[in-house]
Amino acid sequence: MNHKVVGILGGGQLGRMLAASASLLNVPVVILDVGASAPAKQILAPTAPHLGHIDGSFTDPIKIRELAAKADVLTVEIEHIDVDVLDEVAKEVEVHPAPSTIRTIQDKCRQKVHLQSHALPIAPFLDIPEPTIHGIKDAAGRLGLPLMLKSKTLAYDGRGNFVLRDLSHVQDALEFLSGRPLYAEKWVPFVKEIAVMVVRTPRGQTCSYPVVETIHKENICHLVFAPLRSRDPQLAARAQEIAERTVQSLGGAGVFGVEMFLLADGQILVNEIAPRPHNSGHYTIEACETSQYENHLRAILSLPIGSTALKVPSAAMLNLLGSSNDMSELVGFAEFALGVPGASVHLYGKTGCRKGRKMGHITITANSDAELRARLRPLLQRLPSADP
Ligand code: ATP
Ligand code: MG
Ligand code: MG
Repeated sequence: MNHKVVGILGGGQLGRMLAASASLLNVPVVILDVGASAPAKQILAPTAPHLGHIDGSFTDPIKIRELAAKADVLTVEIEHIDVDVLDEVAKEVEVHPAPSTIRTIQDKCRQKVHLQSHALPIAPFLDIPEPTIHGIKDAAGRLGLPLMLKSKTLAYDGRGNFVLRDLSHVQDALEFLSGRPLYAEKWVPFVKEIAVMVVRTPRGQTCSYPVVETIHKENICHLVFAPLRSRDPQLAARAQEIAERTVQSLGGAGVFGVEMFLLADGQILVNEIAPRPHNSGHYTIEACETSQYENHLRAILSLPIGSTALKVPSAAMLNLLGSSNDMSELVGFAEFALGVPGASVHLYGKTGCRKGRKMGHITITANSDAELRARLRPLLQRLPSADP
């Protein structure tokens, strides 16, 4: 059907699930990441010897050029890559999403400026050009306490965020975020976190997946419920409209994750965008007509986009986070999960387990919310805890 070779920067779990989708469509994939056994490299052997996976960093210009030489279309499973090199290779291969989009998103302050300039709803924020005691106190004076301090770059799983509750902790914040470029966001007293995956075609048309509720623990996604339940019959459509408008403001094709806050008065604020498949969209593999991974491939290859509709009444996704350096507890739990009706177990094949590391996930589908809760309950009761 398609003979284009897809090059993926990054070989973690998102790349692994992309590669699994690609194998179903017989799309050849070349992965760039360090080591021979990155999770994505375990999925399928390249179809021809000259298409072998590349051992190197997705931030290394030489390795990115090597990947571009093997591929017809480049895409990313992580935004923390070298965009200047992507700009350069975009003259020879298609790059999705557009390098300019990744540049906007990889600096979270620049991302906020972009969202603001497109009149998208966000919390007030301020650049902190000088990350000093004075710079932070000034931001706190203008945005109030608590104050969300964020690293502009290289942030994930909340590593790079510091909640400043009291001015006496400014020094702690500086030490925690030491050396990182900072900005501040006004604290958002949200009642729920929600997310929408949006598919964008090369011509800029968008369609969205159902709105989901995401539940975080210590800044890391813990649970996702699909679809979002609400007494407000307009809420889902409003969230999808904001998410699609957000993604329309960007360039290039693929799926994008739009994380949002829901406030008590029904207001929705955009938190951040992921220019790639997203943890809050894992559930689409079992619960939707077309998964986020397959639709990402279809979009970047200019193939017809598949239906984003749910095909089950109720679904949830439970992340399997490392509880210690020992993987055996999680493996035991995954075996237990195999006995739960409607549960699908995903293990990512990562070599090292650590506290808080994403090692796998479980999707649970059900015919009703009540059935979903009944299926989820034994899983939550037995989930290995990361608490000391
Ligand atoms: P990700 O792994 O999703 O990329 P990240 O490191 O980029 O995470 P954010 O999404 O910015 O971090 O923030 C992590 C979590 O912190 C959010 O999911 C939310 O729970 C909380 N949070 C972020 N910004 C604010 C805010 N302005 N007010 C209150 N809570 C916030
Ligand atoms: Mg982020
Ligand atoms: Mg986030």
